[in-house]
Amino acid sequence: MPNIMPSTTAPLAAATVEWPPAAPATVAAELPPVTTMLKRGLRGRCPVCGTGKLFNGFLRVVDRCRDCGTELGQVRADDAPPYFTIVIVGHVVIPLMLWLERAQTPPLWVHSAIFLPLTVGLALALIRPIKGATLGGMLKLGLITPPELEHDDAPRSHA
Ligand SMILES: [Zn+2]
Repeated sequence: MPNIMPSTTAPLAAATVEWPPAAPATVAAELPPVTTMLKRGLRGRCPVCGTGKLFNGFLRVVDRCRDCGTELGQVRADDAPPYFTIVIVGHVVIPLMLWLERAQTPPLWVHSAIFLPLTVGLALALIRPIKGATLGGMLKLGLITPPELEHDDAPRSHA
């Protein structure tokens, strides 16, 4: 019977990990204060220089700042901006719904007519500035993903 088990004598590839990792060369050495970076991100500007555009579209982050060259595409906010948006919108909409229900007890269609558009509108209005501020905070903290650490099999998205 043939041996189908992999050989245990094959040498394992040794992974070399340096800790702490070297500071990324793509981020400017001198970063502004965190409040400045958050405000610039809220305005949709590059958190490092404050002049370049942060987004190329509604939520797509530019690969590189046009003005200062910071590799903004390496900052991957992933699910953090939607999470923050849901928390904020929920804390606005739910108390309003409860207040209206207790004060007026309107029919369900009134709740739907008021709070569905309000929820969607608030979420769409807030997610872009929240994503910008999140990226600014992540840049300040050095939370970037160098290209060599990204998975090659996953399509690159900047959502
Ligand atoms: Zn910039």
